[in-house]
Amino acid sequence: MKIEIIKGDITKIHADAIVNAANSSLLGGGGVDGAIHRAGGPKILEECRAIRNRQGKCKTGEAVMTTAGNLPAKYVIHTVGPVWNDDKEKGSKLLSDCYKHCLKLAEDLKVKIIAFPNISTGIYKFPKELAGEIAVNEVRKFQSDIIEKVIFVCFDEENEEIYKKLLKPFKHQ
Ligand code: ADP
Repeated sequence: MKIEIIKGDITKIHADAIVNAANSSLLGGGGVDGAIHRAGGPKILEECRAIRNRQGKCKTGEAVMTTAGNLPAKYVIHTVGPVWNDDKEKGSKLLSDCYKHCLKLAEDLKVKIIAFPNISTGIYKFPKELAGEIAVNEVRKFQSDIIEKVIFVCFDEENEEIYKKLLKPFKHQ
């Protein structure tokens, strides 16, 4: 699996799937969630509502999928990251679960290219460095014959620097 870093807006990325850092209501919010719903149009929210009616809220660490409305991607995988609350162990486990469940769901959808935002590092205040380590570890651990490329989309410079540093040792593999 190739790993790439792009600095920018995930709604502009041409991938088979982009990941949304949603909240458990699945009904939209601020940050990347708001940007995805704004750019993708009402179809995504409609599908999120249908999921809610079927299975209720999405638990932290879990993931669900919708199509991607007007976005260049085919699917949006919505995952709910943990809110940082000083329980490092519990938060880390839940954030790992987000990446694992998104990758598993992407495989089930036969996704070749998936783009992740820096889940939980905005409104949910997860420490960026730790979140980056977890993201890189989970992606590198995940063995897949289906997913060919994972893109980490960094919206801010601080995250971009963190990911560059974390991926440097693997650059020539
Ligand atoms: P959370 O509630 O999981 O913290 P946020 O959306 O507040 O979710 O932030 C998650 C990350 O997404 C942050 O690093 C934020 O800078 C980033 N982000 C915000 N808007 C976009 C966007 N349009 N594309 C990619 N990343 C974004």
